[in-house]
Amino acid sequence: MRQANLFDIGVDGASEPSTLPTAQADPPAFASVLVDIPTRALAEPFAYAVPSDMSGRVQVGCAVLVSFGNRPALGYVVALASSLAELPGTEGLKLSSVKPIRTILTDPLFSEESAELALWMSKEYVAAPAECLRLFLPPGASPRLKRDEDGTYRLERPTTREASARWVSLTDAGRAFEPPARATRQRQLVQALSAGPVTTRELNALYTDMSAAIRTLEKKGVVTVEERRAWRGVAHGESRLSSARAEVPEQLTEGQRSALEAIERARAAQAGDVVLIDGVTGSGKTEVYLSAIERVLASGRSACVLVPEISLTAQTVGRFRSRFGDAVAVFHSRLSAGERLDQWDMVRAGAARVVVGARSALFCPHRDLGIIIIDEEHEQSYKQGSAPRYHAREVAAKMARRYGCPLVLGSATPSAEALSRCRRGSYNGQRWERVEMRERPGGAVLPKIVVADLRREFAGGSRSMFSKPLYDALMGVVERREKAVLLHNRRGFAPFLMCRECGCVPTCKHCSTALTYHERTHTLECHTCGAVYHVQAYPSPASKCPSCGSPYLAKMGVGTQQVEDALLQILPKDVAVIRMDADSTRGKDGHAKLLEEFDAAECAVLLGTQMIAKGLDFPEVTLVGVVNADYALKMPDFRASERAYDLLEQVAGRAGRGERPGEVIIQTYLPHDPVIRAVASHDRSIFTDHDRQMRAEALYPPYVRLAHIVVSGRDRVLAERHARSLAAAVVDLFGREASAPAAVASLSVLEAPVVLGPAPCVIERAKDRFRFHLLVKCPVGYPVSEAISSVLAEVGEQRGLSVVVDIDPYDLM
Ligand code: ADP
Ligand code: ZN
Ligand code: ZN
Repeated sequence: MRQANLFDIGVDGASEPSTLPTAQADPPAFASVLVDIPTRALAEPFAYAVPSDMSGRVQVGCAVLVSFGNRPALGYVVALASSLAELPGTEGLKLSSVKPIRTILTDPLFSEESAELALWMSKEYVAAPAECLRLFLPPGASPRLKRDEDGTYRLERPTTREASARWVSLTDAGRAFEPPARATRQRQLVQALSAGPVTTRELNALYTDMSAAIRTLEKKGVVTVEERRAWRGVAHGESRLSSARAEVPEQLTEGQRSALEAIERARAAQAGDVVLIDGVTGSGKTEVYLSAIERVLASGRSACVLVPEISLTAQTVGRFRSRFGDAVAVFHSRLSAGERLDQWDMVRAGAARVVVGARSALFCPHRDLGIIIIDEEHEQSYKQGSAPRYHAREVAAKMARRYGCPLVLGSATPSAEALSRCRRGSYNGQRWERVEMRERPGGAVLPKIVVADLRREFAGGSRSMFSKPLYDALMGVVERREKAVLLHNRRGFAPFLMCRECGCVPTCKHCSTALTYHERTHTLECHTCGAVYHVQAYPSPASKCPSCGSPYLAKMGVGTQQVEDALLQILPKDVAVIRMDADSTRGKDGHAKLLEEFDAAECAVLLGTQMIAKGLDFPEVTLVGVVNADYALKMPDFRASERAYDLLEQVAGRAGRGERPGEVIIQTYLPHDPVIRAVASHDRSIFTDHDRQMRAEALYPPYVRLAHIVVSGRDRVLAERHARSLAAAVVDLFGREASAPAAVASLSVLEAPVVLGPAPCVIERAKDRFRFHLLVKCPVGYPVSEAISSVLAEVGEQRGLSVVVDIDPYDLM
């Protein structure tokens, strides 16, 4: 029972309850309370006394009301002890200065393990502990303390409530019951219940009104009506798509068997070992997850599967539900608040022992976790973009070690981080093992990849968006009445210049990332180190390619809408063109509806941004086209190549999943880029070897760890000055080496931290705030979080400025 009556009271800061702990109080008499004020300044929980009349009821996970300074505050109990000295961080604290807890507000909302993990996250990611702990609270179901305009505080009831349903079932006696011949309603009811209990709501929906019949038969003892907690959200993701089922295959492939063996070993070791399944798209990774989960469930434990939000589609969910039925809880961003809470409680109650969800599903109240699986391990969406900026893979690794369960990572294009840890065999005291799955079951052939060189098309006089090979292939699809997928990626797009004749993209001399073009000032700027280069772009007569001298050094950029228009012009009217981008998929299930439309069409082209690249499995797709691979390749970020490779591999994997062979056409001005060559020749090492060398030379992860600090404010001068002070403090802390990046950059191994910048961010202004950033590179194993925390503490806060710290950042814009 949540104690609802307490929420009606006003709360004032001064009054204290009368019962103070006595010397002989029963344990526990003291509590560590994390005050729910989200600021980095409150880095630790505070000690409070447990009044003797509360001591039986206070538990770890309870929300409590405490006095904090001269105001009331909401807090969460994260630890309990019978003496003050047993609580961490209480040395030198006088008993007389410890205040009592004022009120217990709720039953426990989270476990001791969750509290421990939240505090670890706050340290690791230099984040406010309160913000980390909030991840573990039941969604929408914890109280909040609000300050009214007159300065008084008011507790707010949780916004989301539980719902219940009335279930009707046949009694034992009822099974033998023969309704009178003319009682049609009663007949229908008995018939409907013969297969098991049904809710009154469903019965009423099915037979207009059943209430009278239910009442009559309840009186006769034929049926019983029982109020039970309703689990909203269970019907979600049920799909009519052809491939949403997961039949158990007759025989596992050799790769699948060795992956399962590795997982079994990791399970037996109980040390949080990590297994990376490095398997091409369609090699049967999902089947490995399903089999591994079956074994974990059989042993009585539970499973957590993380999937990128973007591939958390009806298809994916359907595969898990078809195997594990109602035991599956699902979390994605399209759930309503009530559905979210119910899925959460299903997990807490043990009614769901398999959780499938986006990164935050990690923080569910899992019971006895026996395996954590992260599909598409390399996906950027596992890194949270707002505070606390955690990475789900790293938190999952920590949890795996804590619970002694395996962490299984799956990817067709593993991250450089995961590959490097597997090469070393261990990381942070955990074993990392890689298992390869090269074959597709049933020997489905790899699609044929054609690279369309746009430079040559340009030289041949073509100004069309579609090269000759892509145009011809589209016409072939139309003729054979098949389906095609066209990718037009513009994720995190920053405008850049590219020579139409030789494909040259100007990059920074110091940072080897693409320069961003600023049309207004005719400059190319490096947003990592701040370097500025003056240029004239096409159509200025002074435009000149730095590499070949061509006058066609032009800005890159067309939207999906424009590609759609061009498609409609070349395709016959009876071919469905379905555009999928952020605009066309708004609203609940917008994404799924478009996919169903594509599934149902006879002959169609699906045109979309990166959101179409993942997880789709349509056997009729025989052509995949990439309108321009260069957008992905030339993002101003050291991970640009990795993401581009992943994207192209994924999208290529959409072709030829059925009987008919698939064809992939990649349009590019950069046919010799290692990413393009690797994809075209189905040889990943061409890309990974190159990428690894680039990262080692330019000192990027996994060879270093990064901390990214962004300072923003309305006052440009103030923001820049503060960024400089932070950079100076980093240099002070790390010593002189930090100030000489040029000298250090030539070393293959970083021996001391270095700082780059401050420089204006790629997105220089957002919401009227000027943004400056600095990038700190640390040797692997260096206590980077601790160091950044101490730099922040030393420089202090500045009114009107915000300082965002991102440890192991993915977004450097
Ligand atoms: P991935 O997750 O690696 O992309 P999937 O698990 O989706 O691969 O498998 C691709 C297809 O192969 C699916 O249709 C799946 O049902 C099928 N499949 C998986 N394992 C086997 C197997 N051992 N035998 C036959 N078919 C299989
Ligand atoms: Zn050129
Ligand atoms: Zn630079």
